[in-house]
Amino acid sequence: QDKSADIVVIGAGGAGMTAAIQAVQDGAKNVVLVEKMPITGGNSVRSTGGLNAAPTKYQERDGIEDSIELFVEDTMKGGHNLNDESLVRTLAENSAAAVDWVNDIGGDLSVVGMFGGASVKRIHRPSDTSAVGPMLVTTLNNKVEELGIPVLLNTKAEEILVDANGAVTGVKVTGEEGTYTIKTKAVVLATGGFGANAEMVTKYKPSLAGFATTNHKGATGDGIVMAEKIGADFVDMDQIQTHPTVNPTDQTMYTEGVRGNGAILVNKEGKRFINELETRDVVSEAILKQTEGQAYLLFDQEVRESLKAIESYIKGGIIVEADTIEGLAEQIGVDPANLKETMEKYAGYQASGSDSDFGRASMEFPLTQAKYYAGLCAPAVHHTMGGVKINTEAQVLNTDGNPIPGLFAGGEITGGVHGGNRLGGNAVADIVIFGRIAGSAAHAYVMENG
Ligand code: ADP
Repeated sequence: QDKSADIVVIGAGGAGMTAAIQAVQDGAKNVVLVEKMPITGGNSVRSTGGLNAAPTKYQERDGIEDSIELFVEDTMKGGHNLNDESLVRTLAENSAAAVDWVNDIGGDLSVVGMFGGASVKRIHRPSDTSAVGPMLVTTLNNKVEELGIPVLLNTKAEEILVDANGAVTGVKVTGEEGTYTIKTKAVVLATGGFGANAEMVTKYKPSLAGFATTNHKGATGDGIVMAEKIGADFVDMDQIQTHPTVNPTDQTMYTEGVRGNGAILVNKEGKRFINELETRDVVSEAILKQTEGQAYLLFDQEVRESLKAIESYIKGGIIVEADTIEGLAEQIGVDPANLKETMEKYAGYQASGSDSDFGRASMEFPLTQAKYYAGLCAPAVHHTMGGVKINTEAQVLNTDGNPIPGLFAGGEITGGVHGGNRLGGNAVADIVIFGRIAGSAAHAYVMENG
């Protein structure tokens, strides 16, 4: 019951669907998408930011002056210069076309905004303020369907098969009909990251033991294992982006701004334990040392009113609220006397401008204005920035630095674009830009080697 295809794309997230669509737009006839989950979308559907691009017609419309050079510069700086500059340049050079491409296939990236690490307004988002992930995945799903590209759901790629020369010949998959081989000339690896694979995360970064994850459960790094088996090279595997304050139940990330605008962190004993404005890694580690490895983000009415994002957390049902500190303590199961003492102490530090317990420099509010609010949080793995090594043609390189014939990759499976720190807006850019490059390159390879 073996099958065959000209190109097999493994993973129907943002990068995989983009690659498949682009290959067909270039003229590919027999492209198949293989997806292990019952639905498409992967982590991509969870993306809330947008797509960084420059210079675009939307920026021009808004009078924003931007350039490929500045985009490259910001991304390198944000990534602590650990990024592969040739990949960053490729990202920037193809970014404006990526926005047009998404819009041409029915998407909506027409509003330009400001985001962390960018010198100017560069992130492109949907005009109806909806999140970018669902818009992008819906757009890609529709286009995949319109082009008649088969998507094999509940079908897990197990192994990439190669011939004696190391060239790709097929993919072994397990689906509803059992295990079989799809013969093919080219494979696009688009399996995403490994942020949901705790074992792999700690293998590459032992200090992340015990972290939860913001990732969908299919982000287990299967592509890493498959690529390693056939000799692929890897970069920056230990570069894993974490976030210290994520709701452990529904994985909502509380933006840093909640602490920045005045919230404190207390443990389940109702006590502070860290300067809340320390860097992400330090705060994460401190939370993990508390009872159950969790803490409460605590704030008052003044903080709530200072930050729009908090409204969405309240709407999402992940914030407990009460008219008094004691009432709040009771609701979250924390000793009321302890919490009251903590809050009184903090108000004193805020008044004197000196936090003699933890040395917090900026204390916006005394946290004395009802209502009072608490959100359960724990640190979580967010994005795996390392991955398979690719060149600017999205070819996967082996450990000798040569392309593995017929193997291409795009999206979170790859490393090098983000370096040591990913800027918001660059994951979606990565997906669309390198997804397109991988799809085109795979089709060109099949044409040359058919
Ligand atoms: P990206 O942002 O790079 O596109 P996503 O996480 O959005 O990454 O998508 C990756 C997709 O690949 C997910 O839908 C995931 O379920 C799928 N996937 C991961 N491993 C496999 C595998 N072994 N076989 C098939 N699909 C896979």
